[in-house]
Amino acid sequence: MNRKTFLQKSTAAAGILLLPKLLADDVVMTVTGPIRPADMKFTLEHEHVLADFIGAKGYSRDRYNADEVFARALPFLKDVKQRGCVTFIDCSPAYLGRDVLLFKRLAEATGLNFITNTGYYGAVGEKFLPPQVYTETSEQIAARWIAEFRNGIEGTGIKPGFIKTSVDNAPLTEAQRKVVDSAALTHLATGLTIAIHTGNGEAAKEELAILKARGVSPQARIWVHAQNETDKAYHVEAAQNKSWVAFDGVNPETVNVNIAYLQNMKAHKLLDNVLVSQDSGWYNVGEPNGGNYKDYNCIFTQFIPALKANGFTASEIDKIFIANPAKAFAIRVRKF
Ligand SMILES: [Zn+2]
Repeated sequence: MNRKTFLQKSTAAAGILLLPKLLADDVVMTVTGPIRPADMKFTLEHEHVLADFIGAKGYSRDRYNADEVFARALPFLKDVKQRGCVTFIDCSPAYLGRDVLLFKRLAEATGLNFITNTGYYGAVGEKFLPPQVYTETSEQIAARWIAEFRNGIEGTGIKPGFIKTSVDNAPLTEAQRKVVDSAALTHLATGLTIAIHTGNGEAAKEELAILKARGVSPQARIWVHAQNETDKAYHVEAAQNKSWVAFDGVNPETVNVNIAYLQNMKAHKLLDNVLVSQDSGWYNVGEPNGGNYKDYNCIFTQFIPALKANGFTASEIDKIFIANPAKAFAIRVRKF
């Protein structure tokens, strides 16, 4: 019996005949369970519902009232869904505003596909890193993240749909290198895509070198906040290496600069590797009623009209907001 036949027989015996194919190459994980990439449709791939900037040391769910956050976020999410958003990806990592039970309530109340993450955030001078990063190996840290994917986050059964980590400008610190390395190991074990908040273009290159050393393809990496690097040559090089390049800071003040970045990528025939989002939201813990919550509408009200006015076709716009996120967030091991 070859391996394939064995797998077919053993899974059929377990009564889950269709599951292996689904898990092999066709799944995106939301807080309410797996969906097919084709069901993601219009996706905002980097947004936030909740953020607490106190740092890992002081982080606690007791610092906010989840019902208040729910009530504040709900109308913004309903609004953007009504405008055409189908999938909402929340990029707040652990110790910075990841509250998966809150996210599940919001997913159920809005009908949005809502995706959360596993991983640790190493940027801002490592303020948001928990102490185990300094005492554990990459393998031990990865084991924690892999367990979240296999068993669910914090006993909820809710699973992450990607890995979120972060670094400042190059050179990366030892702890930042370790979380990227842990992300590489987690990717190999789970197929979860690795989104890395990145200070600058040199840091983005360092990340790929760490992934390569573990045998992970650049196709598994999303360069989060590529717009922070103003030298477009870095964007082009990363995309030519097949990394995802995310221009994810679209807001009314940055429409034109992001259009210019996308025009450059289009001129280099690299639109297959770009992602676009807003990094908008969120209930800011510690401010009265969450402070100034920014809506998620700019891509619909200003950015897509600006893309059209600058010659982007309907199929190019669909690629950026539908086809690319479906490929980027499909759960699949991508080896170098
Ligand atoms: Zn963000």
